[in-house]
Amino acid sequence: MAFVNENYLKLRESYLFSDIKKKVNAYKAQHPEANIISLGIGDVTRPIVPAIIEAMHKAVDEMGHAETFRGYGPEQGYRFLQDRIIEHDFRSRGVELDADEIFVGDGAKSDLGNIGDILSVKNKIAVTDPVYPVYVDTNVMGGRAGELAGDGEHWNRIVYIPCTSENNFVPELPAERPDVIYLCYPNNPTGTALTKEELQKWVDYARANDALILFDAAYEAFIHDDNIPHSIYEMEGAKEVAIEFRSFSKTAGFTGLRCGYTVVPKVLKVHTETGEKVALNPLWNRRQTTKFNGTSYIVQRAAEAAYSPLGTQQTRESIEYYMRNARLLKESLQNIGLKIFGGDNAPYIWVKTPDGLSSWKFFERLLHECHIVGTPGVGFGPSGEGYFRLTAFGRYEDTVEAISRIQNWKL
Ligand code: PLP
Repeated sequence: MAFVNENYLKLRESYLFSDIKKKVNAYKAQHPEANIISLGIGDVTRPIVPAIIEAMHKAVDEMGHAETFRGYGPEQGYRFLQDRIIEHDFRSRGVELDADEIFVGDGAKSDLGNIGDILSVKNKIAVTDPVYPVYVDTNVMGGRAGELAGDGEHWNRIVYIPCTSENNFVPELPAERPDVIYLCYPNNPTGTALTKEELQKWVDYARANDALILFDAAYEAFIHDDNIPHSIYEMEGAKEVAIEFRSFSKTAGFTGLRCGYTVVPKVLKVHTETGEKVALNPLWNRRQTTKFNGTSYIVQRAAEAAYSPLGTQQTRESIEYYMRNARLLKESLQNIGLKIFGGDNAPYIWVKTPDGLSSWKFFERLLHECHIVGTPGVGFGPSGEGYFRLTAFGRYEDTVEAISRIQNWKL
């Protein structure tokens, strides 16, 4: 008899974005004339920059010649890319890493999900709340979340750390000690960031409590302020307690191309049940070499080109394009009297809904009255209720049009 992984049966049936899609489609069916602008899903709209396209064309040609053809590459990624990553993302910030601590993959989501393979099912997980839903759902699949509580919102084995305007979106150290802590900064969905001092507190906490931090830095490229760390390894002692996940998706428009990387420092150790310390780097290497056959050569050449002087300049321009959208959105929403968070070091604007409107009610009013689609904050966790996410990843023209509608909106 074949048995199912019953953890999958515990997952809530519908995923946030499919609910949104259903509601938008229903509205469109009734109002086919409505010109709906989506500032909801966090996908990019700018094309991949010319320097990267050129590098890919070259790599494609190499694949067509016997002398330069590449078959299976190293599962961990080509050295040419690992070296660029080390030099540009870490050495430039005073962090030294070895090539065998960098694992190139097909994007951050896969690695964030797969990392559970090398972690015990017994680990108690903590997430900030609201949160990128992948952290929670992958732990439900892995059997670490327990059961869904009666409120239908909390999993009883997950520690939720609320991040709201009351604590200025800075998570407080948890009263209940977790084993594994997910931190995402700059944050999706709130668009807020942690300063170096605030992140150092978490690293110190993890060191004092033998906890592991899974640090998602997918939005690192959007950081503008000097006192915001780009990598957790800028914090003292972080290599001993943290794995970092990076993505080219938002940095260089790779959402459809797929490339990211994960840093697993060699000094990072966790425990066996009998109390021995085990390094995670060789285990992740074993996991990847067994279950993953590497990111495509062409894509890795594309990622390499994102670090060339021209690639850096061109991708910077795209990032500035989105951050201009963020500024405009933020200003216009503030002008109509809304309380806004985020948007300074991240491409997300986190809106406090007015007059105690629920997240979904605000979603409906914005859709029906302005024909703008955003994401209800409650979809990211219980502490997201009463908030609403807009993204800066839209086209500039659409963002400007959205703003003109918002300016005339009678809330
Ligand atoms: N981490 C966060 C916080 C994200 O918001 C996203 C994508 O939206 C990802 C990871 C996934 O990135 P990738 O496209 O590299 O899988």
